[in-house]
Amino acid sequence: MNYKIVRLNTASQQEIEHSVLIIYTGGTLGMAYNAQGALVPFNFGQILEKIPNLTQLNISITVISFPEPIDSSNINLQHWVDMAYIIYENYDTYDGFVVLHGTDTMAYSASMLSFMLQGLNKPVIFTGAQLPISEMRSDARENLMTSLEIAISKINGKPIVPEVCIFFNHMLLRGNRAKKVQSIHFDAFESENYPPLAESGIVIDYNFPAIRNVTEERRLKYVNGINNQVIVLKLFPGITEKVIESCIKIKGLKGIVLETYGSGNSPSEPWFLKLMQKAVKAGIVVFNVSQCNGGRVIQGRYQTSKDLEEMGVLSGADITTEAAVTKLMFLLANETSESEIRRKLITPMAGEMTVLGG
Ligand code: ASP
Repeated sequence: MNYKIVRLNTASQQEIEHSVLIIYTGGTLGMAYNAQGALVPFNFGQILEKIPNLTQLNISITVISFPEPIDSSNINLQHWVDMAYIIYENYDTYDGFVVLHGTDTMAYSASMLSFMLQGLNKPVIFTGAQLPISEMRSDARENLMTSLEIAISKINGKPIVPEVCIFFNHMLLRGNRAKKVQSIHFDAFESENYPPLAESGIVIDYNFPAIRNVTEERRLKYVNGINNQVIVLKLFPGITEKVIESCIKIKGLKGIVLETYGSGNSPSEPWFLKLMQKAVKAGIVVFNVSQCNGGRVIQGRYQTSKDLEEMGVLSGADITTEAAVTKLMFLLANETSESEIRRKLITPMAGEMTVLGG
Protein backbone atom coordinates (compact mmCIF):
# COMPACT_ATOMS: atom_id res chain seq x y z
CA MET A 1 0.00 0.00 0.00
CA ASN A 2 1.34 3.33 -0.97
CA TYR A 3 0.32 5.75 1.81
CA LYS A 4 1.73 9.06 2.85
CA ILE A 5 2.75 9.10 6.50
CA VAL A 6 3.01 12.45 8.28
CA ARG A 7 4.18 12.71 11.88
CA LEU A 8 2.94 15.89 13.50
CA ASN A 9 5.07 17.58 16.05
CA THR A 10 2.44 18.39 18.63
CA ALA A 11 4.86 18.13 21.55
CA SER A 12 4.31 20.67 24.29
CA GLN A 13 6.48 21.17 27.36
CA GLN A 14 5.11 18.10 29.09
CA GLU A 15 5.89 14.54 28.26
CA ILE A 16 3.54 13.13 25.66
CA GLU A 17 1.22 10.59 27.23
CA HIS A 18 -1.13 9.57 24.44
CA SER A 19 -0.95 8.65 20.82
CA VAL A 20 -3.52 8.66 18.04
CA LEU A 21 -3.32 7.51 14.47
CA ILE A 22 -5.39 9.66 12.11
CA ILE A 23 -6.36 8.05 8.83
CA TYR A 24 -7.06 10.80 6.35
CA THR A 25 -9.25 9.52 3.54
CA GLY A 26 -10.48 12.86 2.19
CA GLY A 27 -13.85 14.62 2.33
CA THR A 28 -14.73 18.26 2.88
CA LEU A 29 -12.89 18.61 6.19
CA GLY A 30 -9.44 18.53 4.66
CA MET A 31 -10.05 20.82 1.75
CA ALA A 32 -8.82 24.34 1.10
CA TYR A 33 -9.30 26.78 -1.76
CA ASN A 34 -6.62 26.72 -4.42
CA ALA A 35 -5.52 29.71 -6.51
CA GLN A 36 -8.41 29.11 -8.90
CA GLY A 37 -10.96 29.24 -6.07
CA ALA A 38 -11.81 25.51 -6.17
CA LEU A 39 -11.86 23.23 -3.13
CA VAL A 40 -9.02 20.70 -3.17
CA PRO A 41 -7.59 18.45 -0.45
CA PHE A 42 -4.73 20.17 1.36
CA ASN A 43 -1.48 18.65 2.51
CA PHE A 44 -2.09 17.28 5.97
CA GLY A 45 1.34 18.33 7.13
CA GLN A 46 -0.11 21.86 7.29
CA ILE A 47 -2.81 20.91 9.78
CA LEU A 48 -1.00 22.56 12.68
CA GLU A 49 -1.31 25.90 10.89
CA LYS A 50 -5.07 25.39 10.62
CA ILE A 51 -5.57 24.06 14.16
CA PRO A 52 -2.79 25.35 16.40
CA ASN A 53 -4.71 24.10 19.48
CA LEU A 54 -3.74 20.57 18.54
CA THR A 55 -0.56 21.05 20.53
CA GLN A 56 -2.58 21.60 23.72
CA LEU A 57 -3.97 18.07 23.68
CA ASN A 58 -0.55 16.64 24.43
CA ILE A 59 -1.05 13.78 22.01
CA SER A 60 1.46 12.33 19.64
CA ILE A 61 -0.33 12.28 16.31
CA THR A 62 0.60 10.35 13.21
CA VAL A 63 -1.39 10.84 10.04
CA ILE A 64 -1.62 8.22 7.35
CA SER A 65 -3.13 9.79 4.29
CA PHE A 66 -4.68 8.05 1.32
CA PRO A 67 -2.35 8.74 -1.62
CA GLU A 68 -5.23 10.50 -3.37
CA PRO A 69 -7.72 11.82 -0.80
CA ILE A 70 -11.20 11.18 -2.09
CA ASP A 71 -14.72 12.49 -1.94
CA SER A 72 -16.43 9.73 0.03
CA SER A 73 -18.93 9.19 -2.78
CA ASN A 74 -16.02 7.34 -4.39
CA ILE A 75 -15.49 4.91 -1.51
CA ASN A 76 -15.09 1.35 -2.71
CA LEU A 77 -14.43 -2.09 -1.23
CA GLN A 78 -10.65 -1.69 -1.44
CA HIS A 79 -10.82 1.51 0.62
CA TRP A 80 -12.63 -0.40 3.39
CA VAL A 81 -10.03 -3.15 3.33
CA ASP A 82 -7.25 -0.54 3.44
CA MET A 83 -8.76 1.38 6.38
CA ALA A 84 -9.29 -1.79 8.39
CA TYR A 85 -5.80 -3.04 7.57
CA ILE A 86 -4.13 0.23 8.62
CA ILE A 87 -5.89 0.01 11.99
CA TYR A 88 -5.04 -3.66 12.37
CA GLU A 89 -1.38 -3.14 11.51
CA ASN A 90 -0.98 -0.19 13.89
CA TYR A 91 -3.30 -1.44 16.59
CA ASP A 92 -0.77 -1.96 19.39
CA THR A 93 1.08 1.32 18.80
CA TYR A 94 -1.77 3.79 19.40
CA ASP A 95 -4.35 4.52 22.09
CA GLY A 96 -7.02 5.20 19.51
CA PHE A 97 -7.80 5.93 15.88
CA VAL A 98 -9.55 8.82 14.14
CA VAL A 99 -10.74 8.37 10.57
CA LEU A 100 -11.27 11.59 8.64
CA HIS A 101 -13.87 10.78 6.04
CA GLY A 102 -16.45 12.58 3.91
CA THR A 103 -19.90 12.57 5.43
CA ASP A 104 -21.73 11.18 2.40
CA THR A 105 -20.81 7.54 2.96
CA MET A 106 -19.39 7.76 6.47
CA ALA A 107 -22.20 5.65 7.95
CA TYR A 108 -21.49 2.85 5.42
CA SER A 109 -17.75 2.87 6.15
CA ALA A 110 -18.23 2.98 9.92
CA SER A 111 -20.70 0.08 9.67
CA MET A 112 -18.40 -2.00 7.51
CA LEU A 113 -15.42 -1.43 9.80
CA SER A 114 -17.50 -2.42 12.82
CA PHE A 115 -17.94 -5.84 11.18
CA MET A 116 -14.39 -6.19 9.85
CA LEU A 117 -12.60 -5.26 13.09
CA GLN A 118 -13.72 -8.07 15.35
CA GLY A 119 -12.63 -8.05 18.98
CA LEU A 120 -12.00 -4.29 18.90
CA ASN A 121 -10.91 -2.91 22.27
CA LYS A 122 -9.92 0.60 21.27
CA PRO A 123 -11.81 3.63 19.94
CA VAL A 124 -12.12 4.11 16.18
CA ILE A 125 -13.78 7.50 15.70
CA PHE A 126 -14.99 8.60 12.28
CA THR A 127 -15.41 12.31 11.79
CA GLY A 128 -15.51 14.94 9.07
CA ALA A 129 -17.06 18.33 8.48
CA GLN A 130 -19.76 20.11 6.56
CA LEU A 131 -17.46 23.09 5.90
CA PRO A 132 -13.76 22.83 5.03
CA ILE A 133 -11.27 23.49 7.80
CA SER A 134 -10.04 26.52 5.85
CA GLU A 135 -13.40 28.29 6.33
CA MET A 136 -13.93 30.65 9.26
CA ARG A 137 -17.17 29.03 10.37
CA SER A 138 -15.99 25.46 9.81
CA ASP A 139 -17.22 22.70 12.09
CA ALA A 140 -13.97 20.79 11.37
CA ARG A 141 -11.99 22.07 14.36
CA GLU A 142 -14.50 21.05 16.99
CA ASN A 143 -15.22 17.72 15.31
CA LEU A 144 -11.55 16.83 15.05
CA MET A 145 -10.45 18.09 18.47
CA THR A 146 -13.22 16.28 20.32
CA SER A 147 -12.73 13.09 18.30
CA LEU A 148 -9.07 13.09 19.31
CA GLU A 149 -10.01 13.59 22.92
CA ILE A 150 -12.51 10.72 22.81
CA ALA A 151 -9.93 8.51 21.09
CA ILE A 152 -7.54 8.84 24.05
CA SER A 153 -10.09 8.88 26.88
CA LYS A 154 -9.67 6.12 29.43
CA ILE A 155 -11.02 5.10 32.79
CA ASN A 156 -8.86 2.85 34.98
CA GLY A 157 -6.50 2.45 32.06
CA LYS A 158 -9.25 1.15 29.76
CA PRO A 159 -10.59 3.04 26.73
CA ILE A 160 -14.01 4.51 27.46
CA VAL A 161 -15.41 3.86 23.99
CA PRO A 162 -13.97 0.65 22.50
CA GLU A 163 -16.19 0.88 19.44
CA VAL A 164 -16.36 2.15 15.88
CA CYS A 165 -18.22 5.46 16.26
CA ILE A 166 -19.10 8.64 14.43
CA PHE A 167 -18.49 11.94 16.21
CA PHE A 168 -20.25 14.86 14.65
CA ASN A 169 -21.77 18.11 15.87
CA HIS A 170 -21.35 17.36 19.59
CA MET A 171 -22.76 13.84 19.33
CA LEU A 172 -20.94 10.54 19.55
CA LEU A 173 -23.00 7.86 17.81
CA ARG A 174 -22.42 4.16 17.36
CA GLY A 175 -21.16 3.98 13.78
CA ASN A 176 -23.38 1.14 12.64
CA ARG A 177 -26.48 2.88 14.05
CA ALA A 178 -25.85 6.24 12.39
CA LYS A 179 -27.32 7.73 9.25
CA LYS A 180 -26.57 10.91 7.33
CA VAL A 181 -29.75 12.97 7.56
CA GLN A 182 -28.63 16.51 6.76
CA SER A 183 -26.57 17.89 3.88
CA ILE A 184 -26.58 21.59 4.80
CA HIS A 185 -26.81 22.04 8.57
CA PHE A 186 -24.09 20.93 10.94
CA ASP A 187 -26.17 18.16 12.56
CA ALA A 188 -25.45 15.74 9.73
CA PHE A 189 -26.00 12.45 11.60
CA GLU A 190 -28.70 10.80 13.61
CA SER A 191 -29.17 7.47 15.28
CA GLU A 192 -32.91 7.04 15.72
CA ASN A 193 -32.86 3.55 17.15
CA TYR A 194 -29.95 3.80 19.56
CA PRO A 195 -29.06 6.52 22.07
CA PRO A 196 -25.94 8.68 21.56
CA LEU A 197 -22.85 7.26 23.27
CA ALA A 198 -21.81 10.73 24.40
CA GLU A 199 -22.61 14.38 24.04
CA SER A 200 -19.96 17.06 24.17
CA GLY A 201 -20.55 20.38 25.87
CA ILE A 202 -18.24 21.91 28.40
CA VAL A 203 -17.42 18.34 29.29
CA ILE A 204 -17.84 15.14 27.33
CA ASP A 205 -20.84 13.50 28.89
CA TYR A 206 -20.59 9.75 28.29
CA ASN A 207 -23.70 7.62 28.27
CA PHE A 208 -22.00 4.66 29.92
CA PRO A 209 -24.89 2.15 29.83
CA ALA A 210 -25.12 2.56 26.03
CA ILE A 211 -21.42 1.94 25.39
CA ARG A 212 -20.24 -1.59 24.72
CA ASN A 213 -18.79 -3.02 27.84
CA VAL A 214 -15.64 -4.91 27.11
CA THR A 215 -14.79 -7.02 30.08
CA GLU A 216 -12.83 -9.87 28.64
CA GLU A 217 -9.39 -9.55 27.10
CA ARG A 218 -9.85 -9.71 23.37
CA ARG A 219 -7.48 -9.81 20.45
CA LEU A 220 -8.27 -7.80 17.37
CA LYS A 221 -9.14 -9.97 14.42
CA TYR A 222 -9.22 -8.46 10.99
CA VAL A 223 -11.66 -10.15 8.63
CA ASN A 224 -11.46 -8.72 5.16
CA GLY A 225 -13.81 -10.57 2.79
CA ILE A 226 -16.49 -8.43 1.13
CA ASN A 227 -18.96 -9.65 -1.47
CA ASN A 228 -20.81 -6.87 -3.24
CA GLN A 229 -23.19 -9.07 -5.25
CA VAL A 230 -26.10 -7.37 -3.48
CA ILE A 231 -28.75 -4.77 -4.21
CA VAL A 232 -30.89 -2.42 -2.16
CA LEU A 233 -34.43 -2.66 -3.49
CA LYS A 234 -36.59 0.19 -2.28
CA LEU A 235 -40.32 -0.37 -2.67
CA PHE A 236 -42.65 2.41 -3.77
CA PRO A 237 -46.30 2.39 -4.74
CA GLY A 238 -46.42 1.62 -8.45
CA ILE A 239 -43.20 -0.42 -8.63
CA THR A 240 -43.58 -2.80 -11.56
CA GLU A 241 -43.19 -6.52 -11.94
CA LYS A 242 -40.62 -5.90 -14.65
CA VAL A 243 -38.34 -3.95 -12.32
CA ILE A 244 -38.40 -6.60 -9.60
CA GLU A 245 -38.04 -9.39 -12.10
CA SER A 246 -34.95 -7.78 -13.64
CA CYS A 247 -33.43 -7.31 -10.20
CA ILE A 248 -33.73 -10.92 -9.18
CA LYS A 249 -32.45 -12.04 -12.57
CA ILE A 250 -29.13 -10.22 -12.09
CA LYS A 251 -26.42 -12.80 -12.70
CA GLY A 252 -24.58 -13.81 -9.53
CA LEU A 253 -26.89 -11.84 -7.22
CA LYS A 254 -26.54 -13.18 -3.67
CA GLY A 255 -28.48 -10.79 -1.48
CA ILE A 256 -31.26 -8.19 -1.46
CA VAL A 257 -31.82 -5.55 1.19
CA LEU A 258 -35.55 -5.05 0.71
CA GLU A 259 -36.56 -1.57 1.92
CA THR A 260 -40.16 -2.04 2.88
CA TYR A 261 -42.82 0.25 4.35
CA GLY A 262 -43.39 0.90 8.06
CA SER A 263 -42.92 -2.19 10.19
CA GLY A 264 -41.74 -4.30 7.26
CA ASN A 265 -44.77 -4.34 4.98
CA SER A 266 -44.86 -4.96 1.24
CA PRO A 267 -47.56 -5.22 -1.45
CA SER A 268 -49.61 -8.43 -1.29
CA GLU A 269 -50.04 -8.66 -5.03
CA PRO A 270 -49.46 -12.26 -6.15
CA TRP A 271 -46.83 -11.33 -8.76
CA PHE A 272 -44.75 -9.58 -6.09
CA LEU A 273 -44.95 -12.43 -3.60
CA LYS A 274 -44.21 -14.96 -6.31
CA LEU A 275 -41.07 -13.13 -7.37
CA MET A 276 -39.84 -12.76 -3.80
CA GLN A 277 -40.44 -16.45 -3.22
CA LYS A 278 -38.55 -17.25 -6.40
CA ALA A 279 -35.58 -15.19 -5.15
CA VAL A 280 -35.51 -16.92 -1.75
CA LYS A 281 -35.81 -20.37 -3.37
CA ALA A 282 -32.92 -19.53 -5.69
CA GLY A 283 -30.74 -18.98 -2.58
CA ILE A 284 -30.80 -15.17 -2.69
CA VAL A 285 -30.82 -13.87 0.89
CA VAL A 286 -33.60 -11.29 1.29
CA PHE A 287 -33.22 -8.97 4.29
CA ASN A 288 -36.24 -6.87 5.25
CA VAL A 289 -35.36 -3.34 6.39
CA SER A 290 -37.79 -0.51 7.00
CA GLN A 291 -37.84 2.74 5.05
CA CYS A 292 -38.60 4.48 8.37
CA ASN A 293 -35.56 5.79 10.25
CA GLY A 294 -37.11 4.95 13.59
CA GLY A 295 -38.92 1.85 14.80
CA ARG A 296 -38.48 -1.69 13.61
CA VAL A 297 -39.53 -4.43 11.25
CA ILE A 298 -42.00 -6.80 12.88
CA GLN A 299 -42.79 -9.45 10.30
CA GLY A 300 -46.22 -10.91 10.90
CA ARG A 301 -47.70 -7.83 12.56
CA TYR A 302 -49.67 -7.16 9.39
CA GLN A 303 -50.74 -9.66 6.78
CA THR A 304 -48.63 -7.61 4.34
CA SER A 305 -45.46 -8.79 6.06
CA LYS A 306 -46.63 -12.21 7.22
CA ASP A 307 -46.30 -13.55 3.68
CA LEU A 308 -42.69 -12.41 3.54
CA GLU A 309 -41.93 -14.12 6.83
CA GLU A 310 -43.51 -17.37 5.72
CA MET A 311 -41.43 -17.56 2.57
CA GLY A 312 -38.14 -17.04 4.46
CA VAL A 313 -37.48 -13.32 4.08
CA LEU A 314 -35.36 -12.32 7.10
CA SER A 315 -36.31 -9.51 9.46
CA GLY A 316 -33.80 -6.67 9.83
CA ALA A 317 -35.43 -5.56 13.11
CA ASP A 318 -34.21 -1.97 13.76
CA ILE A 319 -31.10 -2.03 11.58
CA THR A 320 -30.25 0.87 9.25
CA THR A 321 -29.97 0.28 5.51
CA GLU A 322 -26.29 1.27 5.74
CA ALA A 323 -25.58 -1.40 8.35
CA ALA A 324 -27.80 -3.95 6.60
CA VAL A 325 -26.09 -3.71 3.24
CA THR A 326 -22.56 -3.79 4.69
CA LYS A 327 -23.41 -6.68 7.02
CA LEU A 328 -24.85 -8.63 4.12
CA MET A 329 -21.73 -7.99 2.00
CA PHE A 330 -19.55 -9.04 4.92
CA LEU A 331 -21.40 -12.26 5.74
CA LEU A 332 -21.78 -13.32 2.11
CA ALA A 333 -18.00 -13.24 1.78
CA ASN A 334 -16.97 -14.71 5.10
CA GLU A 335 -19.52 -17.46 5.76
CA THR A 336 -19.63 -20.51 3.60
CA SER A 337 -23.09 -21.90 4.25
CA GLU A 338 -26.34 -20.14 3.45
CA SER A 339 -27.78 -21.21 6.79
CA GLU A 340 -24.93 -19.52 8.72
CA ILE A 341 -25.32 -16.35 6.65
CA ARG A 342 -29.03 -16.34 7.46
CA ARG A 343 -28.49 -17.06 11.16
CA LYS A 344 -25.82 -14.40 11.62
CA LEU A 345 -27.76 -11.81 9.65
CA ILE A 346 -30.55 -11.79 12.22
CA THR A 347 -28.18 -11.97 15.19
CA PRO A 348 -26.46 -8.79 16.48
CA MET A 349 -22.75 -8.84 15.61
CA ALA A 350 -21.44 -5.42 16.62
CA GLY A 351 -24.39 -3.74 18.32
CA GLU A 352 -25.98 -2.87 14.98
CA MET A 353 -29.45 -4.17 15.84
CA THR A 354 -31.67 -4.95 18.79
CA VAL A 355 -33.60 -8.16 18.41
CA LEU A 356 -36.61 -8.31 20.70
CA GLY A 357 -36.76 -11.41 22.82
CA GLY A 358 -33.36 -12.34 21.41
N1 ASP B 1 -19.06 14.93 -0.71
C1 ASP B 1 -18.31 15.04 0.52
C2 ASP B 1 -17.83 13.66 0.91
O1 ASP B 1 -18.58 12.87 1.39
C3 ASP B 1 -19.16 15.62 1.58
C4 ASP B 1 -18.45 15.72 2.93
O2 ASP B 1 -17.28 15.53 3.07
O3 ASP B 1 -19.12 16.02 3.90
O4 ASP B 1 -16.68 13.36 0.73
